[in-house]
Amino acid sequence: MTCPTNQLDAFVDGELSPAALAAVEAHLQTCPACSAHALAQMQLKNSVRAAADAYQPSPEFRARIAAQVATKQRRPLHFWLSPALALVAAVVLVAISVPLIARHYAHERALSELLDLHVSTLASANPVDVVSTDRHTVKPWFQGKLPFTFNLPDLTYSPYTLLGGKLIFFNHAPEAQLLFSFRQHRISVFVLKSATSSRDGVQTEDGFTTESWTAGGLHCIVVSDASAADVHALADLMRSAQAK
Ligand SMILES: [Zn+2]
Ligand SMILES: [Zn+2]
Repeated sequence: MTCPTNQLDAFVDGELSPAALAAVEAHLQTCPACSAHALAQMQLKNSVRAAADAYQPSPEFRARIAAQVATKQRRPLHFWLSPALALVAAVVLVAISVPLIARHYAHERALSELLDLHVSTLASANPVDVVSTDRHTVKPWFQGKLPFTFNLPDLTYSPYTLLGGKLIFFNHAPEAQLLFSFRQHRISVFVLKSATSSRDGVQTEDGFTTESWTAGGLHCIVVSDASAADVHALADLMRSAQAK
């Protein structure tokens, strides 16, 4: 059998008839070039599938790609050039989008882990390790437990109350979680030294708001079901305390 080059993609996609499948399988046993090609195709397929599981493109993105594909079909490139160009385009697309997808996914995962920590804190019988409304008690409690320090704002004339703090482990590193109350809401402020890959900014999802920023080598993430404006006001108090 000569190399079934034009059947290898159908083989990888599982689209061969049983007879053709048996023939290609028999050929792959004997031909290193074809088996290497088929293996590379399978690995590409798997990594694209893994990336697709982690990140669903928006309907707009799908529509744009579909429109581009339709345009290309109407005005084809030189027929002998297009398969090579398509392969280059596919390789470039994977090389560009996989790191972007990975970064997006890491960010989403960090935020959703912190959201889980916030929710489990609220469900806990002992939500904090150090129970105090006094920042001069809570801040020193963390000393010796964390490889960094941070400041807490004076909340005397604000609608926020400090409830306490706890030591958490995030990315295998000791970090701080502070718990505040605002009317009937609870607000967690995570102060992290480890790289979270978290983008700075505000996000609202499932009724929770997160506001993240980086300053002085620390990442702060405020998480609450309070309104974005109320989350932002506490974030501002934390920011100005860190600037002191
Ligand atoms: Zn072959
Ligand atoms: Zn502000």
